[in-house]
Amino acid sequence: MLILVVNSGSSSLKYQVRDTDTHEILTKGLIDRIGESEVPDHRAALLRLSEEVGQALQEKKIEAVGHRVVHGGERFSQPVLVDNEITRAIERLSPLAPLHNPASAMGIRAVAERYPGIPQVAVFDTAFHRTLPPRAWRYAIPTPLYRRYGIRRYGFHGTSCGYVSELAAEFLGIPLEEFDAVVAHLGNGASVTALQGGRSIDTSMGFTPLAGLVMGTRSGDIDPSILVFLAREGYSADDIDSLLNRESGLLALSGNTDMREITSAAEAGDQQAELALEISAYRLAKYIGGYHVAVGGARAIIFTAGIGENDAAFRARVVALLGALNVRIDEAANSVRSNEVRRISTADSAIEVLVVPTDEEEAIAEATAETVLAAGRE
Ligand code: AMP
Repeated sequence: MLILVVNSGSSSLKYQVRDTDTHEILTKGLIDRIGESEVPDHRAALLRLSEEVGQALQEKKIEAVGHRVVHGGERFSQPVLVDNEITRAIERLSPLAPLHNPASAMGIRAVAERYPGIPQVAVFDTAFHRTLPPRAWRYAIPTPLYRRYGIRRYGFHGTSCGYVSELAAEFLGIPLEEFDAVVAHLGNGASVTALQGGRSIDTSMGFTPLAGLVMGTRSGDIDPSILVFLAREGYSADDIDSLLNRESGLLALSGNTDMREITSAAEAGDQQAELALEISAYRLAKYIGGYHVAVGGARAIIFTAGIGENDAAFRARVVALLGALNVRIDEAANSVRSNEVRRISTADSAIEVLVVPTDEEEAIAEATAETVLAAGRE
């Protein structure tokens, strides 16, 4: 099937056209600065998209559209065929993802207008984590806060996590239903997920994608009282939001968000850059140790996304902290660059360490085709 994959941000729209039979990417692009004069809104962005796609595809026709939707709340545990009610449900979840969900809903409406009647599927970042048990998702705060506002752990990066866990289980020859592992998705946003029997049972992101690991510009875990302290010092909600989401993390620690530059700075003797790497690796190693316990003994540790797939030095730094678990990295295997699933642990490592390239667009395209075909069979 020819699938258009759409990732709508508040001021940008990324797209790919994928053929799910050949796994080919037919065309892809980015329309940014939505809201400025040339592209005033998502409708205008969709018009531009359809022109670009039309030219690239010639007479070939898109058969369905898959949307990445950040927040599916408690309702969505799998991809769904979109109708008006679903679009409204995505909008109603906007308080939980104020930048992302409204953009997705606008993207869906713009596609419906530009390609009337085309099947559209919403693929949620949170859906894979709907299997979390209450002991992992519930915060120890009064119940009305959960009931009234939906304050609980949701988790994100689910599409990527599901995709790489299937590939990893297949690579190791373990049936997915028996696969216990820890997945480290380390990109601009970063999270760790505990997999038991191929399902997510815990994950480091929480109510929002701010929790957990040190990220490019996000703090990850901090003492929540810091927010109260800052509020009393006169910081507004928006100030705190911006501080923790856009001015923290690697940027705050090292002055940089790109791991390549931080690594070269550290190698050149920059103490701040070195500390940024140490803090990030230490936090991740503690999560891996914790999730190894949570899943009752992981068979594999999986590295994926920009940093996880490409940054051999960072992987080595993390694995070096896992000596207590008898996890050992194979330096030669770790330094090989490749787009394939690969093992980077030694033969005597107690847990296999794998690098598994993720491909969220591929996963969304597959999920979209499956959902449309299943609906057709009903
Ligand atoms: P993602 O969000 O998955 O696209 O990952 C983006 C991040 O991956 C960037 O912030 C980079 O720091 C990191 N990255 C990409 N390529 C490399 C590389 N070759 N070495 C180290 N880090 C990399």
